[in-house]
Amino acid sequence: MAARTGKEYLERLSASRPTVHIQGETVTGGIQDHPAFRNVVRSYAELYDLQHSAEHKDVLTYTSPTSGEPVGTSFLTPKTPEDLVKRRKAFKVWADHSNGMLGRTGDYMNSSLMALASAADWFAQANPAFGENILRYYEKVREEDLLCTHTLIPPQVNRSVAGTQQAGGKLAARIVKEDDNGIVIRGARMLATIAPFADEMLVFPSTVLRGTPEDKPYSYAFAIPNDAPGLRYVAREPLDYDRPRHDHPLASRFEESDCVVVFDDVHVPYERCFAIGDADLCNGFYSQTSSVVHMTHQVVTRTTAKTEYILGLVTLLTEAIGIEQFQHVQEDIAEIITTLEMLRAFLRAAEADAQVNEYGVLTPAFAPLNAARNLYPKLYQRFPQILRKLGASGLMATPTELDINGPAAADIEAYLQSATLTGPERVKLFRLVWDTCISAFSSRQALYEYYFFGDPVRMAGAYVKSYDREPYKAKVQAFLERS
Ligand SMILES: Cc1cc2nc3c(=O)[nH]c(=O)nc-3n(C[C@H](O)[C@H](O)[C@H](O)COP(=O)(O)OP(=O)(O)OC[C@H]3O[C@@H](n4cnc5c(N)ncnc54)[C@H](O)[C@@H]3O)c2cc1C
Repeated sequence: MAARTGKEYLERLSASRPTVHIQGETVTGGIQDHPAFRNVVRSYAELYDLQHSAEHKDVLTYTSPTSGEPVGTSFLTPKTPEDLVKRRKAFKVWADHSNGMLGRTGDYMNSSLMALASAADWFAQANPAFGENILRYYEKVREEDLLCTHTLIPPQVNRSVAGTQQAGGKLAARIVKEDDNGIVIRGARMLATIAPFADEMLVFPSTVLRGTPEDKPYSYAFAIPNDAPGLRYVAREPLDYDRPRHDHPLASRFEESDCVVVFDDVHVPYERCFAIGDADLCNGFYSQTSSVVHMTHQVVTRTTAKTEYILGLVTLLTEAIGIEQFQHVQEDIAEIITTLEMLRAFLRAAEADAQVNEYGVLTPAFAPLNAARNLYPKLYQRFPQILRKLGASGLMATPTELDINGPAAADIEAYLQSATLTGPERVKLFRLVWDTCISAFSSRQALYEYYFFGDPVRMAGAYVKSYDREPYKAKVQAFLERS
């Protein structure tokens, strides 16, 4: 097979039967037509169609080494600087399509799988079969162009004790049985974004395991179809209210569901397992395979696209109401520009300093990407604040499309015009600003940027621990000792 079209994605989804609890209803299929999902699912379908568009197909696909068919660029194992650039350009085309609002486009997990499969020897340390499994699985996902999500952390019950100790060890997803041809998983994981309309669920290691015997049942990595028997999702209330695009321009396109994941004795065949019962291996899963680096390359490209969107939006807003010349407004715009240029510089540095890792993969330098992933969760929080401050009451003067075309049309035309826009044009722009900085959709975006890569506080702890500061200490020491 080859890179999918949107139609092929939707066809596969319509054949899938995931169990999703949502707003008191249990859905077991027809996800593509359900009001909570049908709009975002169509946005995902558009991404797959882009792979076949005359404009983007050369950057979004490459020739599969096994089938000779065009497959998605995010599966490309980079060997040359041109490969890395092609990967980044492909990330950018997809990120631009949603202004960076879709966090879980396929390229996110594909990048991880590509790196994991390249490091098949690392998995083989524990068992040669695991090395073969990860390689075969990556090739399957690539050739079938499957959409994967992942679930990492144990439920948030009591964070003062380890996941292994929650409810006497009977809560977090764990291996409860091993049989002749696989393992059985029982318990829950906290969250999986896009689970109802993904094809596959990657159940990968997350928080650091201590390597004690109690950790063994919680140490695993495997992949299952999203409609595997015994797997169910508890979705949050949807933020897409099925309103017109004019009124909810972002939520009506890009609302990615987040779900709690419940494993009710899910059987995972051995050929779908990549690690079992090995806490040390699980702890090195992302760093020792370079998976985290390739994921961060995708993430920083997406957040660059998002920052470009914010800069464009704030510029249209400030021009519309004639506030560009005020100095504090310029200071805020400068903050967005600085963030954008920083992200671009980080990406450029990461690619310029890329090195071939021990598995022969040209890997971007992690130091600049790591700096970006530690900064952005906080920097992004400023953007909705800035938009709210500059939009002010205009963000409340936002009648709907029905009003623009209804009895209030003349009032909107007369009183909601702006320095550069007609009344209806201004309302349309301000509805977009509202959906970026005030709506429930926008709050979820801010929370997503803060947390999706892990808690920034603990990420900072790991960052400080892993950063070699000895040369800088020595530098200061030498200065102290200089006569
Ligand atoms: C919108 C959204 C989408 C997400 N999508 C996914 C997904 O698809 N797949 C997935 O696996 N995960 C997903 N996540 C979860 C994400 O990985 C976590 O939010 C993140 O790892 C933080 O964990 P937590 O939410 O359990 O917070 P907690 O660990 O419960 O932390 C809550 C607060 O307590 C503090 N705290 C807790 N424990 C400690 C500690 N040991 N040391 C210091 N401070 C502590 C934290 O700093 C924080 O302020 C998503 C999260 C969000 C918000």
